[in-house]
Amino acid sequence: MKRSPMPPRRQPMSRGSKQLSRKAPIRSTGAPKSGKTTGKKSAGPRPLPVKVVAAVRARSGGLCEIGLECGGLAQAVERAHRTGKGAGGPGGRGRAASNSPSNLMDACRRDHDRVDRAKVTDAYLRGHKIHRHGLARPHEVPVLHAGYGWVLLDDHGGWRSAPAAAVRGEHLLPVLQISRREYDLGETGAVDRALARFGHLDCGGHSFRLDEVLTCACGAELLVVTLLEAE
Ligand SMILES: [Zn+2]
Ligand SMILES: [Zn+2]
Ligand SMILES: [Zn+2]
Repeated sequence: MKRSPMPPRRQPMSRGSKQLSRKAPIRSTGAPKSGKTTGKKSAGPRPLPVKVVAAVRARSGGLCEIGLECGGLAQAVERAHRTGKGAGGPGGRGRAASNSPSNLMDACRRDHDRVDRAKVTDAYLRGHKIHRHGLARPHEVPVLHAGYGWVLLDDHGGWRSAPAAAVRGEHLLPVLQISRREYDLGETGAVDRALARFGHLDCGGHSFRLDEVLTCACGAELLVVTLLEAE
């Protein structure tokens, strides 16, 4: 028996498709809903710089990057912060980290709500959230991206895949990226600085293999060292 063709509905679009944004223009920033700008403005999120929004949008192709509720097919209408406001210490430094592309994910409303409120514990296990008082920086913490899998996000809207050793069921390990040259010459300054940041510089030394867990002399599993890509 002949079946009538299904009406085309909700075709999955490839990431990076331009169609989506054409059909539904996306607000570049959180524009005020009313003309009123005076009075208390404590609760509302600050609009992100247009450049930052554009970098995140280029990475996402306009689709939700969290994708746990929507499968990564919903239009991204909000930016979800991985680390909340004020992270990274007092002053401007925390704010700068907070609004870097590595700290932001393009999100649909449902997924943003999920990681911020509904399933927060899961969000930490997948890198959608990063502990506010932690010492790892957003570009170092793997995140499960709806389109790209386990990745490290950079601060220019780029991404790369994350070493498997950094992705563990119970917690994620930060990834330190060093240059081929540093590695070949045995220049471990960057590793030492990371150990200092994590409070393990004086434990008695370390050795590491690329893309494997670096275990401190004290026994703590601290991070994974990998090579910078595309040098
Ligand atoms: Zn979504
Ligand atoms: Zn949020
Ligand atoms: Zn240690």
